[in-house]
Amino acid sequence: MKSHTRVAVIGGGVVGASVLYHLARHGWSDVMLMERDELTSGSTWHAAGGMHTINGDPNVAKLQKYTIELYKEIEELSGQATGVHITGGVLLAATDARMDWLRGVVAKGRYLGLDLEEISAEEAHHLMPLLDPSQFVGAVRNSEDGHLDPSGVTHAYAKAARKLGAEVHRFTRVEDIVRRADGLWRVVTNKGEVVAEHVVNAGGLWAREVGRMVGLELPVLAMEHMYLITEDMPEVAEVNARTGREVIHAVDFDGELYLRQERGGMLMGTYEKAGKPWSERVTPWSFGHELLEPDIERIAPSLEVGFRHFPAFQKTGIKQIINGPFTFAPDGNPLVGPVRGLPGFWVACGVMAGFSQGGGVGLALSNWMIDGDPGFDIWAMDVARYGEWATMAYTNAKVCENYSRRFSIRFPNEELPAGRGVKTTPVHDLLAGRGAQFGAAFGLEVPLWYAPEGVADEFSWRRSTDFEHVGAEVQAVRERVGLSEISSFAKYRVTGEDAPAWLDRMLACRLPAPGRMTLAPMLKQDGRLIGDFTLACLNSPSSGASRHLLPGGEKSEAARPATSSPRRGEGASRSEAGEGAWAGSSQEWLIFGSGVAEQHHMRWFESHLPAEDVKIEALGLSLVGLSIAGPRSRDLLAKVTHDDVSNAAFPFMAIRRMDIGMAPCLVGRVSYTGDLGYEIWMAPEYQRHVFRLLEAAGGEFGLGLFGSRALNALRLEKGYGSWAREYRPIYGPVEAGLDRFVAWNKPADFIGKSAATAQKAEGGRYRLRTFVMDADDADVIGDEAIWHDGTVKGWVTSGGYAHNARRSVALGYVPREIADAEDGFEIELLGKRHRARPQRTPLFDADFARMRG
Ligand SMILES: Cc1cc2nc3c(=O)[nH]c(=O)nc-3n(C[C@H](O)[C@H](O)[C@H](O)COP(=O)(O)OP(=O)(O)OC[C@H]3O[C@@H](n4cnc5c(N)ncnc54)[C@H](O)[C@@H]3O)c2cc1C
Repeated sequence: MKSHTRVAVIGGGVVGASVLYHLARHGWSDVMLMERDELTSGSTWHAAGGMHTINGDPNVAKLQKYTIELYKEIEELSGQATGVHITGGVLLAATDARMDWLRGVVAKGRYLGLDLEEISAEEAHHLMPLLDPSQFVGAVRNSEDGHLDPSGVTHAYAKAARKLGAEVHRFTRVEDIVRRADGLWRVVTNKGEVVAEHVVNAGGLWAREVGRMVGLELPVLAMEHMYLITEDMPEVAEVNARTGREVIHAVDFDGELYLRQERGGMLMGTYEKAGKPWSERVTPWSFGHELLEPDIERIAPSLEVGFRHFPAFQKTGIKQIINGPFTFAPDGNPLVGPVRGLPGFWVACGVMAGFSQGGGVGLALSNWMIDGDPGFDIWAMDVARYGEWATMAYTNAKVCENYSRRFSIRFPNEELPAGRGVKTTPVHDLLAGRGAQFGAAFGLEVPLWYAPEGVADEFSWRRSTDFEHVGAEVQAVRERVGLSEISSFAKYRVTGEDAPAWLDRMLACRLPAPGRMTLAPMLKQDGRLIGDFTLACLNSPSSGASRHLLPGGEKSEAARPATSSPRRGEGASRSEAGEGAWAGSSQEWLIFGSGVAEQHHMRWFESHLPAEDVKIEALGLSLVGLSIAGPRSRDLLAKVTHDDVSNAAFPFMAIRRMDIGMAPCLVGRVSYTGDLGYEIWMAPEYQRHVFRLLEAAGGEFGLGLFGSRALNALRLEKGYGSWAREYRPIYGPVEAGLDRFVAWNKPADFIGKSAATAQKAEGGRYRLRTFVMDADDADVIGDEAIWHDGTVKGWVTSGGYAHNARRSVALGYVPREIADAEDGFEIELLGKRHRARPQRTPLFDADFARMRG
């Protein structure tokens, strides 16, 4: 074994082999894979080998399509047969709700280029004669489903990689991984040591153990999984003889089953309700090519449905039941990418559908390692979507829930119960007492809406029981004043002498003056978005109270009386704040962003920290918030503070420390509702005091509580986008309509400047647009197809009912060429195309008089 390598890939399952192949194909040939046994010695060897393109996340679906298309290439390059059979398949619905869900799948598939078609149960029976059509209400035909030989595919990746210069070391077990002082990794194996620039954890069933070698506890858990293989069946022989083809695949969602032909019989697998975790805490190194004891009792309820839905099974014998473990992340999607705080350490694990996703995972990871960017939107697979709240116990609860719901419908208004109520803010019980219905965001309980006694969400694709109550919350904001919790935002504090220069390079905006805020897009080298924030420059603290406001504030540079307090810029507009003003200052900066992206953004910030004096920390719940918004919000604020909050003294986008009641707070005049409004930030110990005070003082102004569903309705009528929906790493600022916040001419050479400038000149491919839809009882959620003049041209990113404007609104991307068309647009919703009109100006406060007045 050589002593040095660019990349050490740990694990020779289908995922590690794919990563190795993609690295070599991309030009990194000095790479090696270490496998403790033979290749495929984890989950891979006993997989059922099924593959399919559909996935709840369209971006993962794209990578699944890529994976399936890749097999021909690796087979040709390696000379190793992969056993790929593209049979096509049917996705079956036994209920109307399931059929609605499938229609959504078809709508998404249109812009993904998937060949999906809604068909009747009879037509499904014609294609897959083993099913009983009377058990189903309809189906979708999918031409890309198929199956393969798991071992053949893994060896094909490995052989193809070897041909491109990569090395594969079997029977080489990695026993330790140590980070050296120079940043390289010492990979210690039973065959000696290798020094690697990068390490990839593709340890599959042992991913946790490999993670623990570097102090990382990955949120993955293996579940037992069973499938059965029948004796040869005459019905199968008949189909084969009559059609000259195999029996096609079937996924029976309501039976929670998948089926395909296996030799002369059938293979039927199930995700049973009573799923069983395997090796919950530690995976034994001794586990290898053995199977687990089948437990027919556990899968009996699913099989009963299966035998009813596919009657031919009632007459055949079961030849074999396979039971094997494979891993899942809490949400069922892979964990991919660089690990925050461990430069050069990458993960590619938790891949539960290795034969549909392994190719895409390998491609994205190799792009990321070589080019610094995955090259796709892999948000749904990014390991950074989990934080420290994803403990082992949380992971186990969520994985069991996810396994048992693998084929269940999740309605857009449905919150899942496992792992809930763990991370809460101090006002949680107060809000619960007012009827708050909570959802979870990055582990945190967040109020969605406020239900009167006896009312709860009825899960549906259509407008539901919350509709009128969310409408009332919206009206409270637009007509009087609303109060909401905003602690779930991510908050980062940046300090240090060189903070201004660093921020100027990291963010594409102009830096705000002290006491001011600005919207701050953050770009990657390719000129596309990697963040969308509000940046605040705080005035230097002057009172004792303010010194205690931010966690650690007493000790920070910024808490010391500033030596060069640039107060002259206070209240100035953005353009008045010259870049040079901050040189040598010890200002304190706050960045507010999307809560779910906290790890993702910290990873980016930290990997770009210079040697100079800059410190960034994520404040998490050590800074919590409440927001008031609406025409009476200023009156309310004035009642609870001694500060002058008139428009002249405290204008739009100002931020200032002020006491609210007796609590030291930081108040920013900004609101995502698009209304007159304020965000009030405080240390958690003050939140109950401030909440009670605002609630009591708000009575005379008609204060009402509002949750995130009302906030969604409010931002939609302003056409405001949000991170991970409208703003994602595949769009440039011009495409996303954020170009007006980019300081194209600022002297600082911010990251992505030249690429974004080039994209601006060339125009980009897409434009984000707001549409008003003709819709009666349902609204878009996201990922629906946008049609123009009879063809699918774009996709919806989010939407809903804007209660105040009384319009059904959709935001989405369309090609630039048609972005200014006035008509011809339709949006597909629950299988029907609805007329959609572009909305060029905000439906509320188009002249910003309310927001800025
Ligand atoms: C019964 C069953 C049916 C399935 N059916 C399907 C299906 O139809 N379609 C589908 O797509 N997926 C299916 N799967 C899931 C599929 O098997 C997994 O998605 C896939 O195998 C994951 O591959 P992997 O490379 O991530 O992990 P693994 O296959 O577990 O590979 C990890 C490898 O890493 C090696 N390793 C670990 N630690 C070390 C170390 N320290 N040093 C060296 N080597 C190490 C292990 O020996 C192992 O070979 C099924 C799984 C089961 C159990």
